[in-house]
Amino acid sequence: NVRVRFAPSPTGPLHIGGVRTALFNYLFAKKNNGTFVLRIEDTDQNRYVEGAEQYIIDALNWCGIPFNEGPNKNEKFGPYRQSERKHLYKKYADELIASGNAYYAFDSAEDLDFHRKDHEQKGKTFIYNWHNRLKLSNSLSLSAEEAKAKLDAGEDYVIRFKSPQDETLYLTDIIRGEIKIDTNILDDKVLFKSDGMPTYHLANIVDDHLMEISHVIRGEEWLPSLALHYQLYQAFGWDAPEFAHLPLILKPTGKGKLSKRDGDKMGFPVFPLQWTDPETNEISRGYKEDGYFPEAMVNFLAFLGWNPGTEQEIFSLEELIEAFDLEKVNKSGARFDPDKIKWFNHHYMQEQNNDELAEAFKSLHSELIEIDLNYISLVIGLIKERATFVSDFWGLSHYFFTAPTTYDEKASKKAFKDDTAALMTELKNIIVHIDEFTVTALQTDIKGWITKKEIGFGKVMMPLRLALVGALQGPDVFDIMFIIGKAETIKRIENVIK
Ligand code: GLU
Repeated sequence: NVRVRFAPSPTGPLHIGGVRTALFNYLFAKKNNGTFVLRIEDTDQNRYVEGAEQYIIDALNWCGIPFNEGPNKNEKFGPYRQSERKHLYKKYADELIASGNAYYAFDSAEDLDFHRKDHEQKGKTFIYNWHNRLKLSNSLSLSAEEAKAKLDAGEDYVIRFKSPQDETLYLTDIIRGEIKIDTNILDDKVLFKSDGMPTYHLANIVDDHLMEISHVIRGEEWLPSLALHYQLYQAFGWDAPEFAHLPLILKPTGKGKLSKRDGDKMGFPVFPLQWTDPETNEISRGYKEDGYFPEAMVNFLAFLGWNPGTEQEIFSLEELIEAFDLEKVNKSGARFDPDKIKWFNHHYMQEQNNDELAEAFKSLHSELIEIDLNYISLVIGLIKERATFVSDFWGLSHYFFTAPTTYDEKASKKAFKDDTAALMTELKNIIVHIDEFTVTALQTDIKGWITKKEIGFGKVMMPLRLALVGALQGPDVFDIMFIIGKAETIKRIENVIK
């Protein structure tokens, strides 16, 4: 029974890396007919940010990868916010103390700082572990009475995991294989604090156990925690889930990890949706608002660290579920390429429904208020193969909605010659006499006339295109004439006859 979870901390908007983690969890769950759980890890109240949880949920929904269980949804194993599970964790911390796997420590922040600096001066790093722990203030170094007296007096304490000395841990990761760890390098991580809150490590393990999580799929930055997590499962006598640590996402340059700060600095968003910082009101751009389609985002993210082992790059969500395989995820970092997501967007643009695109386009331009949606939709059908975003439409199609008032200077020199006015007058007469105004009729009559006249095609087509478009661009001129209609076509030709 596959159960996976996405467990973000609501400390701000979900970065693209978080969305990738959520996506891989989602794909793995769907592939195995499993359950995708959203758990909000908000035990660190200092880092809690208003609105972040809703943002996470909105982002998952926009990407089309909704969770099956989570806050206010199918709360079988709920609550799903750790702050609402606060009462649960103390008993597990106590259990570890009773079994000798954890202990109370009373060191003040100043004391710890002193030891850290002292070590630094000697060129060493201070690790709170078997080597140092007896020199510090904790229930392993103090007598039982001393320790009890401190607790009874209500002194601040933390509960630390007692990392073993001289052991080797053999960990397995689905993506990385066997990992060997010498326990002597591990520190005694804090599991619980006297304010009644567990730390990430304890809450995470207890919840994964209680929520019956079968596979933990998360970012590589959590790999260093794996040893502790393994030991916690052992200490509790629980079966550990399987683990898969996804590769880092690297900056476009390939050097260093992509960060939240890279976004606007490097000219592309790193957030799925726009985010307004509740404290500074500063706005960070989002892929959605920048005109990306969720299908493009999902297809792009799937390839950050995974590939199907074939040439195929375009995958619908259904196809991704079908092809996805954790064993095919790479260990090495995945370079984030902002041009590649544009390439995907261009592809998915072609698959969008023209009527829906027309509505989105219309809402962007006051010039379109009066224009019929069917007409806009028809125009989009002609130009969208050259568009990546809806915001490209106007530049590619304005002449379908407003007649050109100026003509590209360089093109005019090339197209408008001494005999142009006479040719355009003849052309206009031909068009006036076409009763059934269709693309075929236009083609037959105009091409027939050009051939009979034995003049080059360009002599007619270039000024005609300029008359219609204002520049030497755009789709087929016969299509353009057909769409703007007979009267408008004649008017635009007249405009260049003067
Ligand atoms: N709360 C952690 C985070 O913000 C979860 C890490 C994990 O999946 O274990 O990423």
